[in-house]
Amino acid sequence: MDNTEECRLCNCHTGTHQLLSDGSEYYLCHNCGLIFQKRDQLPHYFEEKERYLEHENDLERQDYMSYLQESTKRIFNFPISKKSLLDYGCGPVKGLENIWNKEFEYLASFDAIFHKNTDFKVKTFDVICCIEVIEHFYCPAKSFEHINSLLGKSSFVLFRTEFLESCDKLEKWWYRKDPTHVCFYNSQTWKYLEKKMNWKLVLEEDSRYAIFQKL
Ligand SMILES: [Zn+2]
Repeated sequence: MDNTEECRLCNCHTGTHQLLSDGSEYYLCHNCGLIFQKRDQLPHYFEEKERYLEHENDLERQDYMSYLQESTKRIFNFPISKKSLLDYGCGPVKGLENIWNKEFEYLASFDAIFHKNTDFKVKTFDVICCIEVIEHFYCPAKSFEHINSLLGKSSFVLFRTEFLESCDKLEKWWYRKDPTHVCFYNSQTWKYLEKKMNWKLVLEEDSRYAIFQKL
């Protein structure tokens, strides 16, 4: 019997329940494809913050900065306007502001835990980058709406996350073992977002990158 929670992206109740051997529970939404952790298993805010501070994200660390640069450079393959870039979900340090400061006129950072100020100099951005961010969303419907509200018409948003096409891999999948990774996406989720947000998927690469343009 399926005992399904409301999908936190599309609000449907049409899902499949997955119980894993370590007691973790997930749902696969049949409407939007989102795979999400059971609500009462979500980590507490403070645990989450501590966990992020353990991540060694540091402007001085060359490998971290190279990783950010490598992850975001594909945005330049698209006809972007280079006036403004937002690093959405930057974490404790403002990495992209330090990497692309010559390419963009205005750069800003937002993070729901570490940099909550949304008092930006522009209303909407030409480019928004979310590097290893969307798998952390407790309420993806709200967070994608927030991103959409900050995205200008014809602007681009890049997501980097590990895609998960079905629940079969969940049991042994390393990516879910980070307790702050609570929802996973796939082609069906991208199709849902295209329709819901009026975005067009312009790149899907390596089961890791998705770039959308706002129509
Ligand atoms: Zn759904």
